[in-house]
This record gives sequence, C-alpha cells and structure tokens, in this order.
Amino acid sequence: MEKEIKKDTNQKPFLASETKKNYKHAPLYRSISNENYSKISYKNILKKFEVMGIQKDDPRLRYFFENMKDKKLDEKVSDESFNDILENQSKLFQKVLKGNLAVPDFTSFSNEIKDIYKKTRTNNQGKVADYIPQLKRVDPGMYGISVCTIDGQRYSIGDTNEYFCVQSTCKPINYCIALDDLGEDFVHKHVGHEPSGKGFNELTLNDRGLPHNPMINSGAIMTSSMLKPNLNIADRFDYVLNMWKKLSGSHRIGFNNSVYLSEKQTADRNFALSYFMRENNAFPENTNLLEVLEFYFQCCSIEITTDAMSIVAGTLANGGVCPTTGIKVFHPETVKNCLSLMYSCGMYDFSGEFAFRIGLPAKSGVSGAVLLVIPNVMGIAIWSPKLDSLGNSVKGLHFCEELIKKYSLHNYDTLIISQQSKKRPSISPLSKRK
Ligand code: GLN
Repeated sequence: MEKEIKKDTNQKPFLASETKKNYKHAPLYRSISNENYSKISYKNILKKFEVMGIQKDDPRLRYFFENMKDKKLDEKVSDESFNDILENQSKLFQKVLKGNLAVPDFTSFSNEIKDIYKKTRTNNQGKVADYIPQLKRVDPGMYGISVCTIDGQRYSIGDTNEYFCVQSTCKPINYCIALDDLGEDFVHKHVGHEPSGKGFNELTLNDRGLPHNPMINSGAIMTSSMLKPNLNIADRFDYVLNMWKKLSGSHRIGFNNSVYLSEKQTADRNFALSYFMRENNAFPENTNLLEVLEFYFQCCSIEITTDAMSIVAGTLANGGVCPTTGIKVFHPETVKNCLSLMYSCGMYDFSGEFAFRIGLPAKSGVSGAVLLVIPNVMGIAIWSPKLDSLGNSVKGLHFCEELIKKYSLHNYDTLIISQQSKKRPSISPLSKRK
C-alpha cells in the first residue's frame, strides 16, 4: 500500500507515489490549493488568466485548452493534469498563478487606459491623409488602442480589429530586419543615424551623400534595398510579411493592394529621392532601384490591426522576443539601435518635441498609426486616421500625453521626486524579470 506522507483536513492526501511520478509542480499546486483545495478548477484558472490580461487566443494557452477539451469548466484540475499543463508553459503559469507579471494590477491599468480612451475619443481635430484617395476614404472616426506587456498581457479598446495600413511604421521594422541580417556596420555604410531636421520626404542627403536615418523615406527606401536583395520580389515580400507575422505572435497580417497601386502612381518624390541617392552612389552594389521602390510601397501597404500591432510593439519592448510565442525575432542589439532612432527620429518633425514631452521611442505613419514602446514594460499601438499638420495622429499624440500624465513613464521621470510619486504600471521597470 502507498504510504501517506501528508494529510490535513483541507487537503487531498498527498501520496508518496505522486512525488515519485515526478510531479515537479506539486509544491505550486499545493501552495495554491492550500486554503481551499477545490479552488483549482479549469474555470478558476481561466479567470486568473483573464484578470491578468492573458487572452484566450494566446498561443501559450493552446495546450491548456487542449487539456481541458473534454473537461467541464467546474472540474477540479488533477495533480497530474496540473503538472502536465505547467510542464508545457511553466513560466507563464507560475507568473499568472503567483500574480507576478509585468503589470501585476492589470485590471486597474486597463481601466486607466479605458478612461484615457474615452477622454481622447472626443478630440476631433486633424485631417485624414489625402495624398492618395485610398487613405482619404478611411472612416475618420476610427480609434483603437491596444496594449501588450512584455509578458503578453493584452488589453484592447475601440476599433482594434479593423485593418489599416502600416505606412511609415514599416520603417523601424525594415531597419531591424536589415540590421539583423547584415549587421550595423554594413547598414550604416548606407544610412546615417542623425535626425535630418527636415520633413520625412525632403529631397536631401547628409554630408556623406547618404539618407540621414532609416525613419524617413530616403532611409527606409535604403533599408528596403538591403532586405534579401537576391531573392525574387515575391519572396522578398513574403520574407517581410512573415517577419510581421512573427513579431505579432502569428496574427493574420494583410495587404492593401489598392493602397499599393496608388502609392506607386503618386510616388514622384520617392522616385526623385531614389535617383538622388543613386546619383550619390548611396545604394549597395547591384541595387535594382525600381524593384526596391515597388518593394518599399508594398511594405507601406501591409495591413494590421492595433491588437496585432501592440504585440509587435511588445516584441520591441521585450528586446526582440515575442511576448506571446517566446520566439526571438530580433537580437536585442538590433532593437536597441532601432529604439534609439525611433526616440530621436520617429515622429516626423515632432520627434524632438515628442522625446522632450513623452520621453519614449515611437513611430507614426500617415495612416494614423502610432507604435509606442515602453522598454522592458510594454508596447502600445494606437490608430486614429486624423492627422495634425506634421502628419502625426491627433488622438495618438493626445493618448500619449494623457498616459504620461498618469504614469511615470517618461525616460527621465525617475530623476524627479514629484514624478516618482506618479504611478508606474510595472513591478520594476529596469529589472527584466525573466
Ligand atoms: N507611403 C508613404 C510614403 O512613402 C509613407 C509615408 C508615411 O507614412 N509617412 O510617402
């Protein structure tokens, strides 16, 4: 007969044979079930996940859902199943069950985001981009905000499942891909890292005859020229699309063909920039200029939702590792370089002002998208098509301002005592809790 090693009134007898079965996670199971054994039902675990912001479509929960397929929601999770589930995603389950995620009080944080959303929703200033009809036709009232922490806690409010074009938010991504593929030295032989002080599509190069940085059009055309130049154009595009997919935790990424076609038709400035760069021998050898331009327009016409884009931003916040899949998409050095340039050059002619007021790396696009990164904490995607005179989403900027008023997230807030009393959503901004 099996020897009973522990028994109390609240707890199921714990058998020596169970330990022998290597139930590695038995201590956690017992610590949670200590007060009330029946607490560990599938329903209660699901509730915990929901409260913590782990969404049902999170790839890390796949095994859990498989495990509970023929179980009732109220059913108690056995030691064996519990162990099984934890073996599969032990880091996530331990963090959730112990309440130890990047934003521990995710409910309060989500409520604050909801309040900011409601407040900023009524700001109707600005004008939808009209340089191509396809962008002009977008519903100007659209507004969505999505958040994804470095632990994959997600919250979305508003029009967060509508697809919009990434436009210039493809610039940091293409830059990261180029850096990861070819290294910093090669990439920066062809593009600088200094704000241009001029408009994003200004016909200008730096004193080395190179585009000033990868966050403006000339620089983005340059980084696009470096992405898998030896592949055929279809495979090059698939390569980039697949990168967006990996960055977004396998969300569906779309493509807007009519935006692409009209970008191509109204691209005199981008053609001029490219010929100007070619005249200055700025491109890598054997660059096919026309092919690169088409490729760049295609990259701008990729479509995404804020829900998926927040995971992209979360991946950048997490140093290149996707929070929901754990896949390492970019090297941390790559992300560091990219965030540095987003910080100094990401918001058009408002970049210096944005760094001053908000103190966070971000990139915006003419579709009204804003990709905001809070390093080591979370990524946020905001989409609202009405733009200010500098091309940034009005509601997007308003949201960032309100966020910074509520939370101590500006890069240099930590220096100021009065700012330290502002809330921080995370446990510890600087220590990466892996
Ligand atoms: N497709 C646009 C262009 O190249 C991207 C501009 C943008 O989002 N700023 O002109």
